[in-house]
Amino acid sequence: MSDFAQPSADERDGFALFTDRSVIAMRVNGVLKDLAATVAESDVVEPVPVDSKDGLDILRHSTAHVLAQAVQRIRPSAKLGIGPFITDGFYYDFGVDEPFTPEDLKAISKEMQRIIREGQRFTRRVVTDDEARAELAHEPFKLELIDLSGGPGSGADAADGASVEVGAGELTIYDNVSKDGEVAWKDLCRGPHVPSTRLLGNGWDLTRVAAAYWRGSEKNPQLQRIYGTAWPSKDELRSYQERLAEAERRDHRKLGAEMDLFSFPDEIGSGLAVFHPRGGIIRYEIEENLRRHLLRNGYDVVNTPHITKKDLFQTSGHLQTYADGMFPPMHLDEVVDDDGNVTRQGQDYYLKPMNCPFHNLIYRARGRSYRELPLRLAEFGTVYRYEKSGTLSGLTRVRGLTQDDAHIYVAQDQVREELTTNLNLVLELLRDYGLNDFYLELSTNEEGNPKFLGEPEQWSTAIETLREVAIESGLELVADPGGAAFYGPKISVQARDAIGRTWQMSTIQLDFNQPERFELEYTGPDGAKHRPVMIHRALLGSVERFFAILLEHYAGDFPLWLAPAQVVGVPVAEQFGDYLDEVVGQLRAAGVRAEVDHSDDRMQKKIRNHTTSKVPLILIAGEQDRAAGTVSFRFRDGSQENGVPVADAIDRIRRAIAAHARVMTSEDLA
Ligand SMILES: [Zn+2]
Ligand SMILES: [Zn+2]
Repeated sequence: MSDFAQPSADERDGFALFTDRSVIAMRVNGVLKDLAATVAESDVVEPVPVDSKDGLDILRHSTAHVLAQAVQRIRPSAKLGIGPFITDGFYYDFGVDEPFTPEDLKAISKEMQRIIREGQRFTRRVVTDDEARAELAHEPFKLELIDLSGGPGSGADAADGASVEVGAGELTIYDNVSKDGEVAWKDLCRGPHVPSTRLLGNGWDLTRVAAAYWRGSEKNPQLQRIYGTAWPSKDELRSYQERLAEAERRDHRKLGAEMDLFSFPDEIGSGLAVFHPRGGIIRYEIEENLRRHLLRNGYDVVNTPHITKKDLFQTSGHLQTYADGMFPPMHLDEVVDDDGNVTRQGQDYYLKPMNCPFHNLIYRARGRSYRELPLRLAEFGTVYRYEKSGTLSGLTRVRGLTQDDAHIYVAQDQVREELTTNLNLVLELLRDYGLNDFYLELSTNEEGNPKFLGEPEQWSTAIETLREVAIESGLELVADPGGAAFYGPKISVQARDAIGRTWQMSTIQLDFNQPERFELEYTGPDGAKHRPVMIHRALLGSVERFFAILLEHYAGDFPLWLAPAQVVGVPVAEQFGDYLDEVVGQLRAAGVRAEVDHSDDRMQKKIRNHTTSKVPLILIAGEQDRAAGTVSFRFRDGSQENGVPVADAIDRIRRAIAAHARVMTSEDLA
């Protein structure tokens, strides 16, 4: 980096090194620090500009401090929780008697503006535990954090956000110092912050209030959490707000209800969706499309039950590592006599959270030869995961989901080719859905961390192979150190949707552990037994989540092949209904999902209705069309193409469906 700075004097601070006002903090030997920190000549110092990832995090977290100060100015009895940065913003938790109202938020915003204009300096001060306790005696939650900071491994223990305040190491208090030198406010915090509140400018906003338990546990007191967003400038705030509004317009929960695609009936339970006929047909098309790809690519299709005896998940290790994410067991087949004595022991059965152990049993059902490898077992496997109710969200986070799962068993020397084939398959598949903007993430182990099972050499070979395959794809590759599962490294495909949001789509995961646990073997060309490598891979992830992503990506305007009703006929007047019935009959015979609207509504009303429900093609016919044997197309953009001969119309529609085209204008239906 060209703007690495080398301090010349013995001890200088960041203000001397970086005069550019857009630099709000610095990295000293890799560690984020305030600009006010002193640096030595031997230190490697990098600037942190406000528009970098670190810079934005610091800007947002500093805004959280201003929020907390404003809240305590207005409600002096409010107790401070924690105030970390989050994606695009920040929050701060408060212990208050009364929840905040929208009027409160307005008053708090005003007060924040005042604090920002005051230009208070953030100044760091190292304190002992006792000093911190004395200074924050009136802040019960902070006192708890101070106690936490003393414990062994406190940094990792504070994964619930408390690490912002008290990471491992020394305790620090940040004073907000006014122009006149008075300490206006202070907070226990690890920092760093922007040098002055003035730098927060006017690119921030408070967004909402929610209840949140202290340190994320229902056993703890409930706090009020105020959320906000912060950006380097008002313009950036505006464009963020526009993106949000656009995302809201596309929200799959909203579109799903409007388009009658799916619902979450109360009677079934949280996170358990039902797909209505219009959603069901979209799902069917997605699955059928994938099945065609699988069969072309040498997969075998298998099917496994939804529940199993406990032993299977003990063998796989899921009960030891994943029990929290599983629904509790059902105790079955126990026999009790009239005196209440158990005469036959029962069995615990579990709903499956994963399909892999079942596929391993299929692999193991008989001896395997190297000639059968790669063995690719694919299943649309419905799994059940006990997600906390607070984390459930539409179709993207559910308790029952169907993975387009496959487990591929390969010999060591086949790993590379199989990974390449799979990656290409993923990209081909996603491009078919108009997702063209990808990058890859490579999740690896952490050296020396015993959590990651297997030989270090096994890991490094596997990671190297994954990396080579990823680089060969020509896509941008982002490292995710420490992000691997305990049993092996993985590549995930991240796709940007139509409005630039990133979604994790597919994962291709190597597994050294399960083949061991299940003692999977094959007979090699040498006649000896060998252990296969296992690849877990889901191309779409889960059908539910993929459905939600597509719905938002397309904003409900599905390409013709996915649209629930592909064509709706609207007669200019009732007497042309029969003619359209005939045309639509031919379309249906050609496999097109078409119908005629025979309702009593007037033509204009019908067109409006089908436009609202996002039918891609409306066929209109009146006297002229009937006489000439033609129809008129009406497209999603409101344009019309008149007098298309029926045979032509059918041919064009069929071709657009086969090409997976998205038909919005007449050009799309060439
Ligand atoms: Zn702070
Ligand atoms: Zn698996």
